[in-house]
Amino acid sequence: MSSSRAEVSRDDASQRLEGMQMRCREAGLRLTIQRRAVMKVLLDFNDHPTAEQTFDRVHQRLPGISRATVFRILEQFVASQIIGRACHPGRSARYDSTTELHHHLICLRCESMIDVFDDSLDSIPIPDTAASGFEIVDFRVQMHGFCSRCRQQRKKEDTK
Ligand SMILES: [Zn+2]
Ligand SMILES: [Zn+2]
Repeated sequence: MSSSRAEVSRDDASQRLEGMQMRCREAGLRLTIQRRAVMKVLLDFNDHPTAEQTFDRVHQRLPGISRATVFRILEQFVASQIIGRACHPGRSARYDSTTELHHHLICLRCESMIDVFDDSLDSIPIPDTAASGFEIVDFRVQMHGFCSRCRQQRKKEDTK
């Protein structure tokens, strides 16, 4: 799969911060210290954190910030399409610093999510759901398996 890249380089990160800040201004949201801190954390980790994980990380940098503020900022960012949100019924929402169409590798053991950019996945045929009355507005491909760290871990457990 040579057309896929699973990681974002550092250069991209500063460009992506600029993109986020631009979308923030376009949405009429002021670039407050709090909003900037949330953006930085999402880009620095780039691992699809939950709201709670995002709060913990932002709180380390901005000890005065409240959980409610971080949660509100995340939802404002989603509503303004500054970030994405991956939802799985019954699980906590995961926030995604990448809004362009991409797909995910999801580890069944540690639930880590890794971005996959792949043109052929972007253009898979969407089934016709008109009969059920369901209107599809977006899609993502999820591939489930085990990340490299968990595979190592499982090997160790097997040999015990
Ligand atoms: Zn894992
Ligand atoms: Zn993603």
